[in-house]
Amino acid sequence: MVEAGEVEGKCKVIVRVRPLLQGEPEDAEAVAVDSEKNTIQVRLPSKGKKAGGTEKDGLPRATAKAKSYGFDCVLGPSNTNEDLFQACDIDGLVESSMRGYSQTVFAFGQTGSGKTYSICGLDEGGVSVSGLLERAASRCFDRAPSGLKVDLTCLEIYQEQVTDLLVEKKQVLPVRHHPTYGFYVQGLTQRRCEGVSDYTEFATRAFSRRRMASHSLNDRSTRSHLMITIHLTSEASGDNNQIATFGRLCFVDLAGSERLGDTRTKASSATIRAETGSINKSLFALGKVISMLGQRQGRGRAIIPFRDSKLTQLLMDSLQGKGRATMVACCSPLGDHADVTLSTLHYASLAQ
Ligand code: ADP
Ligand code: MG
Repeated sequence: MVEAGEVEGKCKVIVRVRPLLQGEPEDAEAVAVDSEKNTIQVRLPSKGKKAGGTEKDGLPRATAKAKSYGFDCVLGPSNTNEDLFQACDIDGLVESSMRGYSQTVFAFGQTGSGKTYSICGLDEGGVSVSGLLERAASRCFDRAPSGLKVDLTCLEIYQEQVTDLLVEKKQVLPVRHHPTYGFYVQGLTQRRCEGVSDYTEFATRAFSRRRMASHSLNDRSTRSHLMITIHLTSEASGDNNQIATFGRLCFVDLAGSERLGDTRTKASSATIRAETGSINKSLFALGKVISMLGQRQGRGRAIIPFRDSKLTQLLMDSLQGKGRATMVACCSPLGDHADVTLSTLHYASLAQ
């Protein structure tokens, strides 16, 4: 078996298509998933007409063009967060983080495609579904050998500015570089978690801070990157010559990718232009970094542009040799979103 932490430079890609939501008509669906073959097919929108469903003459759109892609794993509308947990091999990632590796799972995709549902879960109107993060945290406590310390950090990157979500006071923190430890956020709060209930308390407050900021600034959460890291530290001990290890398990709920590549921003407000610019900067930089890591063997030691954005600076350690990345590429099933879905799949295919 290949050790999760030892696979260098390869990003595992999982594509996930969310189900239709209440109010979305069944005939609006334009994405078909084959979870056995791990393929996904997207029906292309025909010009001037709405994609999906039937033609005006009532005939099904059987002749509409479609594009197919294959990935490491493709999950469809009937798959649950538990299935996603298995597909990401969170157990394996937790184990290797306990031995000192840095693992990253990030959710990419347009707004409304299921990124937050996948990473953070859902707790609304009496419905509670746990996301990858909560499942990973509870695994850490189930498996942690005595002496292993579990700490949590939680930050948001909005317009290339980092803020701490574990404190009440909103303050922009600087990203610095340390010759041994790499990039880090100076002054970022780290909270010790003795058990899963500590984790839940801190995480719940952090998520609600992100949501509050969203409400006051017109859903900023779709335009910011959320990064939650579980730090697993063991101290050196004389028995069994155990050395100290510093592992990390990082989850990133990325900003919506719908404006990626959208250069038609002249008509928009200055805020939207600035936001689009910085979202694109981070997502472009991440895509570039991941695809270069994938090709590294053939290219020798190409310089990978981690410094291009705050996001890639902070993920550098996890993406470079000491860990592995898993991308969950989230897609909407709707025909109206087919163009954005294709660009999500294109981005994902560059990463794997
Ligand atoms: P994003 O974070 O990408 O903007 P969300 O995670 O907020 O998207 O998902 C958009 C909506 O779809 C939410 O109401 C969410 O509860 C729902 N949803 C997303 N994925 C699923 C899923 N796999 N099963 C059920 N509902 C989902
Ligand atoms: Mg979201």
